[in-house]
Amino acid sequence: MMNPTATAAQPTTGLQTNTTASLAGTAPSSSPMSTAAPAAPAAAAEEVPFHLRTKKKSLINRSSTDPNKILPIQYSFARECYKQGVANNWIPEEVSMQADIELWKSQDGLTEDERRMIIWNLGFFSTAESLTANNIVLTVYKNITNPECRQYLLRQAYEEAIHTDTFIYCCDTLGLDPDDIYTMYETIPSIKEKDDFVVSLTKSIMDPSFEVNMDDPASIQKLVHDLVGYYVIMEGIFFYAGFAMMLSLLRNNKMVGTGEQFQYILRDESVHLSFGQQLINQLVAEHPEIWTPEFKQELTDNITRAVELEELYAKDALPRGILGLRSDTVNEYLQFIADRRLERIGLDKVYNASNPFPWMSEIMDLSKEKNFFESRVTEYQQGGSLEW
Ligand code: MN
Ligand code: FE
Repeated sequence: MMNPTATAAQPTTGLQTNTTASLAGTAPSSSPMSTAAPAAPAAAAEEVPFHLRTKKKSLINRSSTDPNKILPIQYSFARECYKQGVANNWIPEEVSMQADIELWKSQDGLTEDERRMIIWNLGFFSTAESLTANNIVLTVYKNITNPECRQYLLRQAYEEAIHTDTFIYCCDTLGLDPDDIYTMYETIPSIKEKDDFVVSLTKSIMDPSFEVNMDDPASIQKLVHDLVGYYVIMEGIFFYAGFAMMLSLLRNNKMVGTGEQFQYILRDESVHLSFGQQLINQLVAEHPEIWTPEFKQELTDNITRAVELEELYAKDALPRGILGLRSDTVNEYLQFIADRRLERIGLDKVYNASNPFPWMSEIMDLSKEKNFFESRVTEYQQGGSLEW
């Protein structure tokens, strides 16, 4: 593509922000490229690190985005999420399941209601993690061609593999029958309805003939609609009754190994959600014409419908309440987080609920992770900053 002369000029012209002009060889004669003393004007531009200099990249444009050229980075949110994900490395086998195995196999260590709640959450999450992984790999990756976003999507896909592995590990160690756990998304209506809803919301871009096109706002609207389904609804609402229930059990010192794994998953998912919300906001910022009152209402309606389905799921998993946890308190929590999700993507909040579980915010606050996560994960983080 580029002629050798243009390439050779890169070391000096690379400091200028107008790459389009220099690559095309159309720099006006007044540009620093043709002045006798390029050093002085270059100094100011040099303050911006090379990899952050603004270039004409986009999230979705196949024809102008080279998916192999990650530097210079334009969408730094994707890079930051990637680094955060890598700093959170963990694998399920690091968590001991010994106490859980003893408790699970004991006659009177857990009530029937506690067992039901655990099984319901294992049933939902065991297949939901694969559903999420498939969505990322088969549809989001295909449509988001920007390389820094794709680097994060690869990391997210890996984390979904870890989460899928978590439920294999839980089933294996607790001696659960996979034919029971892995069929619950078909046999338990409150689980099936959630999965069916996500699948219905993300149908358009799953269609092999779907292709997002910069010149077709309707296609960008479809992509954003489905991203809200994947990230805000699946990972941001449908996972959260389970997180609240399983972490409440952990706080009561029951099923601590399983609970610790849910804690790690929650930490990963909060980065997935953060990436998704920023991706959605960036697409809307670049294509403001898609953000119509009708579209905003449609997204709000989808989110409130998801809250209803998640409330039905919580009621089904927790019909009588346990450990001071009742499904109506879980509902209040879901409404509180739904408002936050709505506001994060520029929609008006609906519920005005307050947070009945302030301890969940503490667990989710990534800056406090060292207080909440055991040394194993911290060691990974220190490993990343070792000095040789
Ligand atoms: Mn996951
Ligand atoms: Fe996820």
